[in-house]
Amino acid sequence: MIKKPFFGLGKPKLQYSGINNIEGKDLKEIPPSTRVTLMHKSPGGELGELVLSIGDEVRTGQKLNLREMGEEYLTSTATGTITDISHTTEYTGQTFTSVSIEAKSKDLWDDEFEKTGKDAAPENALTFLSSLPGISDLSSLIEIDNPLNTIIINGLDRDLLVATNQIIVKTMAEHLSEGIEYLKKITGVSRFIFVVPPSLRVEAEQSGAEVEVIEPVYPDATPGLLMKRILDNPVSPSRTFEDLGVAFINPEAVVALRTAFVEGKLPVTKVLTVIDKDNRLTCIKARIGTPVRDILSALNIDVSHGDRLVFGGPMSGQSVYSEDMPILHDTDAIMVQDKSQVNPSGNDPCINCGECVRVCPAKIPVNMLIRLLENGLYEEAAQEYDLLSCVECGLCSYVCEMRIPISHYIMLGKHELPLTEGLEESNG
Ligand code: SF4
Ligand code: SF4
Repeated sequence: MIKKPFFGLGKPKLQYSGINNIEGKDLKEIPPSTRVTLMHKSPGGELGELVLSIGDEVRTGQKLNLREMGEEYLTSTATGTITDISHTTEYTGQTFTSVSIEAKSKDLWDDEFEKTGKDAAPENALTFLSSLPGISDLSSLIEIDNPLNTIIINGLDRDLLVATNQIIVKTMAEHLSEGIEYLKKITGVSRFIFVVPPSLRVEAEQSGAEVEVIEPVYPDATPGLLMKRILDNPVSPSRTFEDLGVAFINPEAVVALRTAFVEGKLPVTKVLTVIDKDNRLTCIKARIGTPVRDILSALNIDVSHGDRLVFGGPMSGQSVYSEDMPILHDTDAIMVQDKSQVNPSGNDPCINCGECVRVCPAKIPVNMLIRLLENGLYEEAAQEYDLLSCVECGLCSYVCEMRIPISHYIMLGKHELPLTEGLEESNG
């Protein structure tokens, strides 16, 4: 997706960043902002009447139900007044309900969770903890048709230059074993596998989970590839993680679950890695909903016209188009790319060089796949060229000499595919 000149492909292989690459040893705490914006992915279908109104007063850690009908809710990460409620759509077509809160300087903590939900039971997790830092939908581990038999805690990170999961394992190891016990209670799962690089073996072994040490070679820590490597059980469009009784979770969500049940407060902060224009990494803790602008300002990172902001890392991150964009539950990294490093997508067609096919860890004929995706033929892309087996590592975009934004086409295709199928079903 994003081409950067700081690493070479081939030998030696791309390596995930280790925690030794982080500036400073501790998490840097970002001061609370005067405004936070909370976002919830809109479910499909009729949305129904909103319950919240502009002018409503909210407290920190308060559960905010969104609609009269429906179970969507947000957790307020500030004490203050709702100043805006709107609907936004990202480029893949995903819509969000956004709620902005003008925050007061002093937090008043809501006590509903402490009074009624603090027991570690599945119904309380569903009622109060559906979104935790590090996981956008905890309910997917509880409310499923096939019971889970294994949960994999991924101590490596999603992308290069990101060290969020690793710093959680390094600095909060003592809370992970307790978090796993809570996770056992709410999911009923007894088998936990903790995947870490060699540098975090000791911390992982304190957790009580089975420990699987892997070399930090990109993209081996991608869930689809871990399934094959650890459980020798490859996923495919016809065999999802759920079908196989397996789920993935980040260490941060495990720690957040423990904090919620021990302290009786809903988690309101997120740990993330900030990658500056010189590829320096800083790990920070900020309120969920904090605008990117405030985080960059606290770190003295300037953004000028033409620079690029990315949520995520260099291989699989997604550009964001405003510094007002807030960080979300699953924002693991913010990358700032200087305009001189931005390498825009090309308009020239594929030359069939085959580089993308050679590099693809899912063995997808990417050169053929891209032809269908460029023409909006999503069903054919899934049926004939394995669209749904893509693990979204971004390597194909990285090696493409023609700078075709292959990863964007793939993400769009995956989003559009269910809509296309739904349309066909409704047309009979
Ligand atoms: S198609 Fe591209 S993004 Fe998907 S797995 Fe293959 S190389 Fe990675
Ligand atoms: S790397 Fe780019 S140009 Fe080469 S085959 Fe793949 S899509 Fe075509």
